Amino acid sequence: MKALMVYPEFPDTFWSFKHALPFQGKRSAYPPLGLLTVAALLPSAWEKRVVDLNVRPLKDRDLEWADVVLVSGMMVQGPSLRGVIQRAKARGLRTVVGGPIASTTDPNLAEADHVVEGEAEELISILAKDLESGSAQPHYKAAALPDLTQVPVPALDLAEIGKYSAMAVQYSRGCPFTCEFCDIIEIYGRRPRTKTPEQVCEELTRIYKLGWRGRVFLVDDNFIGNKKNVKKLLPELARWNRDHRKPFWFLTEASLNLAEDQELLQLLHEANFDSVFMGIETPVAESLKETTKFQNLRKDLLESVKLVQSYGLEVMAGFIVGFDHDPPDVFDRQIQFIRDAAIPVSMVGLLSALPNTQLWRRLKAEGRLLRESLGNNTLLDMNFIPRMDTQELLDGYRRILETIYRPQEYFNRVLAYLSRVGTAAHMPLATSDLLAGFRSLWRQGLLSNYRKEYWKFLAKTLRRHRRSLDKAMTLAVMGHHFFKLTGAMTAETESQACFEDSKLIAEAPLPTP
Ligand code: SF4
Repeated sequence: MKALMVYPEFPDTFWSFKHALPFQGKRSAYPPLGLLTVAALLPSAWEKRVVDLNVRPLKDRDLEWADVVLVSGMMVQGPSLRGVIQRAKARGLRTVVGGPIASTTDPNLAEADHVVEGEAEELISILAKDLESGSAQPHYKAAALPDLTQVPVPALDLAEIGKYSAMAVQYSRGCPFTCEFCDIIEIYGRRPRTKTPEQVCEELTRIYKLGWRGRVFLVDDNFIGNKKNVKKLLPELARWNRDHRKPFWFLTEASLNLAEDQELLQLLHEANFDSVFMGIETPVAESLKETTKFQNLRKDLLESVKLVQSYGLEVMAGFIVGFDHDPPDVFDRQIQFIRDAAIPVSMVGLLSALPNTQLWRRLKAEGRLLRESLGNNTLLDMNFIPRMDTQELLDGYRRILETIYRPQEYFNRVLAYLSRVGTAAHMPLATSDLLAGFRSLWRQGLLSNYRKEYWKFLAKTLRRHRRSLDKAMTLAVMGHHFFKLTGAMTAETESQACFEDSKLIAEAPLPTP
């Protein structure tokens, strides 16, 4: 059996980094870890190929080669996923869809021959046998959440690793918290399951042997969901990195209660973590209560961010507007908080009701749902009726983006961040980073419309933070992505039409809650 595994294309979002990747000569941020894990689970007798559409297009000869096409992705990849399914079916190929999108009611799924819902580890061998015998079912659903200690090392050798800006490793799934808008806890549960330190080190060794040096993203939705286990892992990560002459530095995602545990912060620092993404969401306490994000209410938010930064970690953060309790000045408060916290990479989105979340169920009961979420919280439209006037909300959101990604404002945040972390932000340079630096001087320093602010920023960096020049250049390049992305987003003026055309979802049949 020849299995063609296709990863659909991402649209241009905060996380795509599409405008920054060309500086490094890269095509995509991270390899498709879910598909590569499925590849490792498929029978060894099968031939397998992986095509990541974020790296290269799907060619007719890929489809000619295949017996079956497996596609995996997130909701935001829905339109691209649909195109893959249609092309495969036009050639008479069987199509299988899995991944987080398969846990939703995305209409694109209806076009696939087989849908695998939930975590696939315990289903793949059954599906493979059924495909071989021609008796595959339209729908497979995982009966239980799998034990991660049994998950094999992803087949990373099938990925063109040089095309990515970071490698990816998953340590855990699930999160103990209860944020109302979150679909992670609905899909992966509230009991974090982890791999063993040995498994993680084996994955690192595999990546190392493939020739990778540089950033490794621990892709967990909440890396510290199981603090007891992560404290056992981190010394092993530090030891592995030391034994291999520190070829990797790490970034991950963690909940804000990280700031309550200085032992954990120290362990992250010693294991060579240089960045952490945190869901801060909002400085408005009433909105945090509304969304049951109680872990963000236990300490002063600003002090928490400063403490994490003091361990040499760059804090990247997610913010949301559109909560019922957001006051009229929420936009100014978000801008001020992002400025005071010195968080260069601030991903601000509109609240979106993802399928089958607590938020979805509440809004449905209140008759406020408008339509399915597209899973892209950077679109300037809402999939539910907000408490605040919709136009006021969209205008305020646009104003936040215009303000925080004004080049001067962004570069000031980077400088404030560098002052706060001192030289702790210094990390070894990869060849792609050097290339990115030269391209940055050319494209941002000579060709961009913000070159004046760019040179002022570089001059200040050289005067005050020379030893962190590498980090400053990396953040300058990331800034280019955000300037471009938010410039395009805020130029969007048709969003309200989308809102007005929508039919209340509460009137239509709903998926299984
Ligand atoms: S902390 Fe993050 S992953 Fe956990 S429930 Fe909240 S939003 Fe979801």
